[in-house]
Amino acid sequence: MDLDRVYQSTILDYSRRKENHRDMEDATDVERGHNPSCGDDLTLLVKQEGDKIADASFIGNGCAISTASTNMLIELIVGQNVKIAKRRVDIFLKMMRQEEVSDDEIDELGDAQILEFAADMPARIKCATLSWHSLEVIFEKQ
Ligand code: ZN
Repeated sequence: MDLDRVYQSTILDYSRRKENHRDMEDATDVERGHNPSCGDDLTLLVKQEGDKIADASFIGNGCAISTASTNMLIELIVGQNVKIAKRRVDIFLKMMRQEEVSDDEIDELGDAQILEFAADMPARIKCATLSWHSLEVIFEKQ
């Protein structure tokens, strides 16, 4: 099995997960991410309790890469301290800008590290980073 196929099946698997694709009435933060070049329109909903991310979900529609990436992001932040969530967003965006990240940092991204393949694909990088930028905007507002 070649690497492209492993990436593809992992991305399809994440994009098909339904448990995070839901509205959240008691969200503390809501941020819409829109990528007109692909048609991705995903709104990230986050529920913060104190310094913890208690819950996260998304609504809207997007391509396989943007929805997979959003599910990966949600998995990496729910139940985590806000500080850790912020660090993971920073590491991911650094990786996507093709800046240097350590092996430990990459490990922290779990399956999301496979999205690095999109870093040098101008048409796909916006799909892969859409919801991470939305979360960055939420954190910047605080
Ligand atoms: Zn897309």
